[in-house]
Amino acid sequence: MLERITQIREEALKALEEAVDQETIESIRVKFLGKKGELTALLRSMGELPAEERPKVGQMVNSLRVKLEETMTQKSDQLASVGLALQLSREQVDVTLPGRRPKLGTYHPLSIVLRDIQEIFLGMGYEVAEGPEIESDYYNFEALNIPKEHPARDMWDTLYTADGNLSRTHTSPVQIRVMERLAPQVPIKIIAPGRVYRRDALDASHSPVFNQVEGLVVDRGVTFADLKGTLTLFAHKVFGEDREVRFRPSFFPFTEPSAEVDVSCIVCNGEGCRLCSQTGWLEVLGAGSVHPKVLLISGYDPEEFSGFAFGMGLERIALLKYGIDDIRYFYENNWSFLKQFKAQ
Ligand SMILES: [Zn+2]
Repeated sequence: MLERITQIREEALKALEEAVDQETIESIRVKFLGKKGELTALLRSMGELPAEERPKVGQMVNSLRVKLEETMTQKSDQLASVGLALQLSREQVDVTLPGRRPKLGTYHPLSIVLRDIQEIFLGMGYEVAEGPEIESDYYNFEALNIPKEHPARDMWDTLYTADGNLSRTHTSPVQIRVMERLAPQVPIKIIAPGRVYRRDALDASHSPVFNQVEGLVVDRGVTFADLKGTLTLFAHKVFGEDREVRFRPSFFPFTEPSAEVDVSCIVCNGEGCRLCSQTGWLEVLGAGSVHPKVLLISGYDPEEFSGFAFGMGLERIALLKYGIDDIRYFYENNWSFLKQFKAQ
């Protein structure tokens, strides 16, 4: 009998020691202390013992029951607090962790360059003008001194609509529209940014749709020196004060005299490299004094008024400014490319 008590004691305490959850403790309780439990069975068999041994054995069984109950309560409490700690650590919120930043968009490089260009000219007292992208032959060609059958039309191969209009090949028609509207008021000082169209296939340096920025000044006594001063200032602001600026004779039907404006190469500084095709110069825009015929047709007497005009490709300025070698990057909406550009 005493042996059996010792055996149950060891067995029960060992099981409790190894228990890892409340369910196990409960099953140990049932196994030893339940109605059909081993300790209970032992108490019931007390009657078989000689009378003199009963008090001693009864006391031992009782103290074992108390011991097991205490141990179960302790173990149960211990498991509960460990469980709580585990749960707390699992559900812990680290309030010092940095938040997740939402991905912010950036300005498109063409928008950045256009804003810079506008800023420069607005600072010199220019206003921004706009015109339609579908133009008549008159505004796109004739009023700009490019009559029908004029060979210069070959410079601007374009796309026609069924009703005889065309997608404008340059922003120059805006010059005519502004002069017609304001004639004979002066001064006119406008820039006209906008989309233009050419019948070109898309490749590294051509796009059938691109952007130009046109400029026009009309007043009394405007000279070619005003043009040179204005565009030199502009080139320095866009490409840096240390750039050399060069005016080269050229031809446009709507300006006389006409010039191409170059800056010294931003890569090689005039030494000659791949970007500037070994010339040391980069062509940035075309310009000239407004042709007397263009003034006349738009309502300004060339004997009294004069002016200058210029036009540049926005993509070209951006390519040169950022050293990009393929115009297609501007149209692909590739986030890896676009995110490199930050407005100042
Ligand atoms: Zn170069």
